[in-house]
Amino acid sequence: MAETPIPLEVRNIKKRFGDVEVLKGLSLQAHKGDVITLIGASGSGKSTFLRCMNLLEQPNEGELFMHGEQIRFKETRHGREPADWRQVVRMRAKLSMVFQNFNLWAHMTLLENVTEAPIHVLGKSRKEAIEQARGLLERVGLGERADYYPAQMSGGQQQRGAIARALAMDPEVMLFDEPTSALDPELVGDVLKVMRDLAKEGRTMIVVTHEMAFARDVSTQVMYLHQGVVEEAGAPRDVLDSPRSERLKQFLAPKH
Ligand code: ADP
Ligand code: MG
Repeated sequence: MAETPIPLEVRNIKKRFGDVEVLKGLSLQAHKGDVITLIGASGSGKSTFLRCMNLLEQPNEGELFMHGEQIRFKETRHGREPADWRQVVRMRAKLSMVFQNFNLWAHMTLLENVTEAPIHVLGKSRKEAIEQARGLLERVGLGERADYYPAQMSGGQQQRGAIARALAMDPEVMLFDEPTSALDPELVGDVLKVMRDLAKEGRTMIVVTHEMAFARDVSTQVMYLHQGVVEEAGAPRDVLDSPRSERLKQFLAPKH
């Protein structure tokens, strides 16, 4: 029997900025339904790792596979680049990213934000896209906000809108880069609730977060990064409750 392809796999990713190597050979396999949380101090390379996964940054070395299909690279004068950007576009359509700063398009209503890519990238009809978008907005608790512009919504609402926009592509893997870090504390819970629901329904997710309770409850795997290296990884109860490395113990210790 053929094995189901792994939604996302990266092997031995290295990334340099100038002379500084910020990712020193990182690997990860996201199987269907996995929720992998990336934790680590500021500057440890979490965002860069995530950005390498959807090629917002070009890794200098390493391999990427999306659903078993390997991304091809070529060497150029400027370093390594994807050999075929159409392949990258296809890959990105299956890999939605949610950023720290919501970044909904400011000149579009929420509904337009959510229908834009399904219409223009997936080629859905406007009617079908709107129907789907209304359902998604309902799910993230924004059924009443379809005609609002981002500036008319709270950060938490914008972030839930950004999640609805990501879901509208029916992504195979969702990437989240500190989705609640820019929110006022009272707005964090609603966003985490939406993410917990996504995890429960079996979405494959890779989440950079400082929300340890979320990581503990929801992750299938926690990876602790330090200076571009995975220092410790495993089940949340092992990594978060019985950390082995002194550095991770320090990192998890309550701050005063
Ligand atoms: P984290 O998300 O864990 O805080 P980042 O991935 O943002 O860490 O950054 C890792 C390291 O790479 C940091 O030292 C940061 O200054 C550096 N870095 C990130 N992006 C760039 C860039 N575009 N140019 C140069 N250095 C960068
Ligand atoms: Mg970051």
